[in-house]
This record gives sequence, C-alpha cells and structure tokens, in this order.
Amino acid sequence: GGPVTVKEFASKMGREVSEVIKKLMMLGVMATINQEVDMDTAVILAGEFGVTVQELPPEEDPTEIAEIIDDPADLVPRSPVVTVMGHVDHGKTSLLDAIRKTHVTTQEAGGITQHIGAYQVVNQGRKIVFLDTPGHEAFTAMRARGAQVTDIAILVVAADDGVMPQTIEAINHAKSAKVPIIVAVNKMDREGANPDRVKQQLSDHGLVPEDWGGDTIMVPVSAHKKTGITELLEMIGLIAEMQELKANPNRSAQGTIVEAQLDKGRGPVATVLIQNGTLQIGDSIIAGTAYGKVRAMVNDRGEKVKKAGPSTPVEVLGLADVPAAGDVLLAVDEKTARAVAEKRIAKKRTEEMAHSQKVSLDDLFKQI
Ligand code: GDP
Ligand code: MG
Repeated sequence: GGPVTVKEFASKMGREVSEVIKKLMMLGVMATINQEVDMDTAVILAGEFGVTVQELPPEEDPTEIAEIIDDPADLVPRSPVVTVMGHVDHGKTSLLDAIRKTHVTTQEAGGITQHIGAYQVVNQGRKIVFLDTPGHEAFTAMRARGAQVTDIAILVVAADDGVMPQTIEAINHAKSAKVPIIVAVNKMDREGANPDRVKQQLSDHGLVPEDWGGDTIMVPVSAHKKTGITELLEMIGLIAEMQELKANPNRSAQGTIVEAQLDKGRGPVATVLIQNGTLQIGDSIIAGTAYGKVRAMVNDRGEKVKKAGPSTPVEVLGLADVPAAGDVLLAVDEKTARAVAEKRIAKKRTEEMAHSQKVSLDDLFKQI
C-alpha cells in the first residue's frame, strides 16, 4: 500500500484527527491534517489504537493474464522451431528456399506455395518448423517483448565472405537468448570458398567446431546447388532430440505472433506460432491489444485447418485489430479477452500520451 494522509487515517480508524496528531507527536512525528504518513508509521500508529494492520498481497495487474502451469505428466514431445540468422547476403533467404524446395512436398491447391512467414518440413519422420521472418528484426522485436520463439538458431556464414558484423550480432543474440547455434557454412560452390577461415573466425568468437575439439556443429552447404541440406536437417534433429522439447496439447492455446497485417478482403491476418495447447476454430483469443474469435485458420501449405497444436505455425483470421510481432496470443474466455484488451488499450494510450508530452517538452527545451 502507498502513503495515507492523517485525515484519511483518522477516518479509517474512526478517530478524531486531533487524536491521531497527538499520537503522532508522542511517536516524535510532527504532522498536520493533510500530511502523508508512510506505511511503516501507519502500521505503528494503528497499533497504538489497538488495530493490527496487515499488508495486502500485491494487486493483480489487470493487463496481464495468469499463466497456466502444466502438470509435467501432461507434457508430450513437440517439434523444434528454428530461425535462420546471419549477415546480409550470406544466403538466409536462399537457404530457406532450398530447404523448402527439397523437403516440403508441394501439393497445395494450384501448386502455389502459400507464404505465411513460417513452414514445416519433415526429415526422417521428424518435423522441423522454420520461421521465415527476417531473422534479426523478428528475433530482436520478439525478444524485446520477452517472447522466446526459437529453439535452435541456424547461423548462415558465406564461405567466401566469412564472419561479418551481423554474424557477430547474431551470435550475441542467440547466446543471450541461450539458443543453441548450428553453423551453416554457405556458398560452398563459390570459387573463393574458404571454410577453414570461417572456422578460425568463428573460433575467435567462441564457436569452436567439433572437428577442432569444440562443440559447435558446422555444416557446409550450398543453397544454390542444394547440397548439405539433408545433413543440416539431421543436425537440427539431433540437437532437438537432446533438448527434449515438450508441450501440453490438451489445454487452451498459447502462442506468439510472428507477423500480422491488415488484408483488404480478410481483415487482420496474423501468423501465429502455437507453442502450447491447441487453438481451435471458435476460440476467443487475445494478442496484445487485439482480441476476437478464431474464424478460420490456414496452415503453411495453404490448407484450412480446424485445430493447431504445439509447434504449429498457422495463419489466424478473426482478430478485430492487427497485433504486433512478438505479442503473446492466448485463448481465453470472451469476457476476459475483451476486458483485458480494453485495459491494455487504455494503458497504451496513457503511455503514449505521457510519451508525447515528454517529447514535446524535450523539443521545447531543444529550441531554447
Ligand atoms: P540473405 O540476405 O542472407 O537472405 O541472402 P540471399 O539469400 O538473398 O542471398 C544473397 C546472394 O547470394 C544472392 O545473390 C544469392 O543468389 C546468393 N547466394 C545465396 N546462396 C548461395 C549459394 O549457395 N551459392 C552461391 N554461389 N550464391 C548464393
Ligand atoms: Mg534475405
């Protein structure tokens, strides 16, 4: 609890203000009627009047929804979620394309690959989920919101170019998120490919390859020639197995917004990575300040689905607004979804107002 004025205190105790001021004087505190008394003093003072004061438990934050704690007995294995990071032009997009082309059986309607910002591949009967979003931005935005969506990071390093500034940035991101790194040494088909130099440079940054006695897995690949892709997927499977990733499919869904936009015809469309529980058509949902009801879901192959379980990327229709990448999506009852969303909107407005006032003041001082 916060401080209380002498007047408020007196009325709470059912005493005259003068009595309270007298007691305060006896405690060595000189106070007037509108003066504030801190919590510690108030507790002692109440004791003087024969009243025991108990601190109330902290108030619940109305903009938060309590987390569901799963019983370990309800947890079952789930697929790993992988992001591709690395310096610009080292071949992240090309590698994702190569993986998709070699390991996704394209049976979609009309043969068009739906782009939903994430896709699943199957290797040796095991699924792997790849997030297709621009590595750094997505990672940073999501991490800034405390969202952890990645189980494994693939660090793409061009064999001819070697370690560059964004390579180091990516290493630091993955390390601070405690996400294991697998290095894909790309562009092995290039004339100037020099994997040993890459190994040396990475060792200088704490990633020592296995064949040099370290524990970092490095796989030579060529996104262009589509070589090394299966080996890379095998290594991902290996690391994932050691991680023993688990989730509970039999509970309300929890996920993270990977990307979202306003579609002219369909309204707000969000790509969600379901991380725990199962999302179903008709579920009430909240994501950041947006809420709504799941109207339709489309998987990474462009197929309509009724359910999406743990480690499934899915496009969700039915939110009334566009959420932000990194927002947590939860399935909750309709009343809670609406109430919490409204509280969040109000909070956001207050924060924005405070910010804009501060900015205009700063501007004013700058001009002076
Ligand atoms: P990103 O910026 O990391 O997404 O890199 P891109 O995938 O856009 O690739 C950058 C450039 O490198 C493009 O011109 C690609 O065609 C080329 N590239 C990507 N992978 C390979 C590869 O394995 N071999 C060769 N020779 N070129 C590649
Ligand atoms: Mg790219």
